[in-house]
Amino acid sequence: MKKKIINLWNQFKDLLFPRSCFCCNSRIENGIICNLCESNLVRIQNICPKCGADNQEYDCRFCKKNDFTFDKARSVFHFGKNLQILIHNLKYDEMKKVAKFLGKYASDYLQNHKPFSKIDIIAPVPLHKVRKRERGFNQAELLTREISERMDWEHIPKLILRNRFTQTQTKLGRKDRHSNVSGAFTLNSKYDVKNKNILIVDDVFTTGATVNSISKTLKDNEARNVFVLTIARA
Ligand SMILES: [Zn+2]
Ligand SMILES: [Zn+2]
Repeated sequence: MKKKIINLWNQFKDLLFPRSCFCCNSRIENGIICNLCESNLVRIQNICPKCGADNQEYDCRFCKKNDFTFDKARSVFHFGKNLQILIHNLKYDEMKKVAKFLGKYASDYLQNHKPFSKIDIIAPVPLHKVRKRERGFNQAELLTREISERMDWEHIPKLILRNRFTQTQTKLGRKDRHSNVSGAFTLNSKYDVKNKNILIVDDVFTTGATVNSISKTLKDNEARNVFVLTIARA
């Protein structure tokens, strides 16, 4: 009965407030974006086996430039305009709906590509304490929650802790980004990662500095493999 009422209420709401696509605002029947915008999300094709960059070159220029400590990183999509809108909404407006949508894509990717060996623990990149207070939630954790449920993996939202308030990364260059976050994370002492395969999840892979620093912390604590999955790659 309760379910029926909720369904009726949802139908009624759709009549009053027709849904529109997050990306182009055109009218849609269900979901969060229209078919056209969904088909315009661009997948990464020529994947570097180590860092997941899209490049044709034999030597990956990102791997050459950086000393990546994670074993493998993968991103589902290129960071285009539509993903920018979706990820922005993951941070603000309708984050739960967007997390469900992107989490499904991430899980489908993991099921179809099997890029990593068996995962023991999935954990999000932790948010700055100040940001979390402002926003009240961590957008990467919304994704790990969704993915862990779909993949049936152990989810530890507080596996990794931030040591100090690092400067926001967006205005820093590559080198500064790497030094800004080196030593910025610790393993939560409640958990043991020895010989475990860990998957770290974030929304966007930009320089890889943050996930690299986390991965180093996990490796220092004898994790076996550290894998990284992001929704998009800038
Ligand atoms: Zn659209
Ligand atoms: Zn690479």
